[in-house]
Amino acid sequence: MENKTENLSIVVDESNAEKTRHFLDIYEMETIIGDSDNKFYLGTKEPRICRFCKKNEKEVTFKMDAHVMPQFMGNRNLLSYFECDECNSLFSNYEDSFANFLGITRTFAQIKGQSRKVPKFKDPRTGIEVYLSDTGIQLTTVEGKDSIKIDEEGKSLEITTTRPTYIPIHIPKVLIKIGLSMLPDSAVEDYDLTRKFILQSDKDINFNNSNMLRIFGYFIPGPPKFPTPFAQLYRKKTEKAELLCPSRQLILFYANYYFQMVLPFADSDKNLQGKQINVPLFPLLVDKSYMDKYGDYRRLNLNLTSNQKKKGEEHKITFSFEGLTQTL
Ligand SMILES: [Zn+2]
Repeated sequence: MENKTENLSIVVDESNAEKTRHFLDIYEMETIIGDSDNKFYLGTKEPRICRFCKKNEKEVTFKMDAHVMPQFMGNRNLLSYFECDECNSLFSNYEDSFANFLGITRTFAQIKGQSRKVPKFKDPRTGIEVYLSDTGIQLTTVEGKDSIKIDEEGKSLEITTTRPTYIPIHIPKVLIKIGLSMLPDSAVEDYDLTRKFILQSDKDINFNNSNMLRIFGYFIPGPPKFPTPFAQLYRKKTEKAELLCPSRQLILFYANYYFQMVLPFADSDKNLQGKQINVPLFPLLVDKSYMDKYGDYRRLNLNLTSNQKKKGEEHKITFSFEGLTQTL
């Protein structure tokens, strides 16, 4: 009988090949999480202690389902026992900011959220409405508003819309919460400042433009690569301890995105303070043929650190007639 081995090799460009070598030379994967068909819980039911506020079930309640990755990203069943209802509702606020930041692109990505429906997008300023019908994505606009431009030559379509109100610094906090949830119990104490950071807002102003909160990653055109989200937590190898790189990094795969972020403020990273630190970038591991089909990927380097409400921010996205090519 013939042994069939699946061919997992993919062809990437030189820059991503180099990133793969560099990243995997320094980091190794510690935890991977994803959605599952049935409810799956991280942590233990007893003793019931919130990993974030450290309170136990005598002090706080644990009645709600605590989703490790946001439901709006398509996570249904990956839950945790270690997130109390108070922390859960705080984190839900943060997730609302993240969803609003993504704006109209959430409808185009067709990822079903909490209501198990693709969210409808409506912009009161431009009159644009986008929703999923039985025949596909429908886009309507108000006559006389210059919010949709079609470029026949370049074969592209540009839509100018408005992001719903959001608070930028909530977005790195969502990623940090996912990262903290993925830590092995033995590493939680090392991130005590990190959990305190995501619970508070009074000191957020001090983190304006903080490089530790920068979000890197990629946007991949075409249909969503990751209709259900998953995440990987990478840990710096022991033998690389002396390198000025942060101890842990999180990669979140959702819809058309890779989001990469340092898990910041670890006690064990104190030696990095005031030094020129190096954040190895995670490679884009998508075959070249995919980009030939849908267009080139974009790199993300996002400074979402302001604690000021962003209201009415303009959001331009471009489609080629083959699919979405640019966003964020
Ligand atoms: Zn809590």
